[in-house]
Amino acid sequence: MSLTSTNATSAFEPKDETEKRNNLIRKNMECMLVRSWQQRMHLGSNDYTVFSYATESFDTIEELYAHATSQLEAGNHLSSATARRYLNNLMYEGFREIDPELQAKGIAGLSLDTKLILYESIAQEFHPQNLQYLMALNDEMGLARDFYACEAEESTSFFSMDNIETLQNQYPNLINSLDRLLKSPTSFNIEAKSNIFQQLVDAYCIYCEIPRLNVRCKFEEDEGLQGFYSAYDKSITLNTNTDNFRRNPLGTIETLIHEARHSKQHALAQAYRNGEIKESHSSYIAARLFHASLMTAGGYISPEFNYSGYRDQPAEMDARAAGGAAAAALKRNQKYLSATPQRAMQPNLAFTF
Ligand SMILES: [Zn+2]
Repeated sequence: MSLTSTNATSAFEPKDETEKRNNLIRKNMECMLVRSWQQRMHLGSNDYTVFSYATESFDTIEELYAHATSQLEAGNHLSSATARRYLNNLMYEGFREIDPELQAKGIAGLSLDTKLILYESIAQEFHPQNLQYLMALNDEMGLARDFYACEAEESTSFFSMDNIETLQNQYPNLINSLDRLLKSPTSFNIEAKSNIFQQLVDAYCIYCEIPRLNVRCKFEEDEGLQGFYSAYDKSITLNTNTDNFRRNPLGTIETLIHEARHSKQHALAQAYRNGEIKESHSSYIAARLFHASLMTAGGYISPEFNYSGYRDQPAEMDARAAGGAAAAALKRNQKYLSATPQRAMQPNLAFTF
């Protein structure tokens, strides 16, 4: 069946009973995979956001087009199924006859707000086909590098020259240990490293105004797994079985900030859901994307499900930008770690009398 047929979702309709049953089994397995991943790594509950309970059915593509266009123009969400059908038609020339201008531009021609509404609409329900639509929307969102670099500013400034000076005054022992760890990583055992990473994350969480995270350093068979974050028990697990953990603390710190950033994303998503983040907020769009990715039934793409979909979704692009920017800033400003704190050297006038 051609994807350019007027009712594009028919491309996914099973041809016979066997295929129908196989599709059901596959869908259930995928569903279980996503659920188990969400519960293990990200979400602590099944409390997902649903934007639209509408269950529309359209006899013709014209009806679908008219309904979706008017809803999107009014800034309303579509049901997950309608949003998928709308995008499917847009991606595979289904609107060629009805709206040649829209069809010529494709997803790229939609406004950012419409793309966000479609992203949220699709995310609200789990469906195996969500992946291709979320990836297409994300690609066309036009947010890539600059957007996430801007969001990562908070992580970069944590290791700025000025903030290192502040940290030296607040946590002299930590900064001293960090300096020694970076210079001589192999002279620290797992427990000593674990201690430094915990203190570093404590300072970072205070700086970013997020709840304290527990750092666990643990042996994991998979040497490619650097670490992971669990929203469920507010913890970061670092794999001790990696080259980074053994001899490249800068690499481990990149992982640490990456995982801690996931916690900030959850905080932003929750604040958006609570109505605490308005359009004027500097992280408004990011908060909406994190909310759509992390607090809906079908917005999160797990690495087992599709690795490139996982890697390029908003929460991962953002965490990578944060971890990378923080490690680069620390590398750049490492020399200031051993400097004597300025303020500590100044005489305290209050005690000179
Ligand atoms: Zn991540």
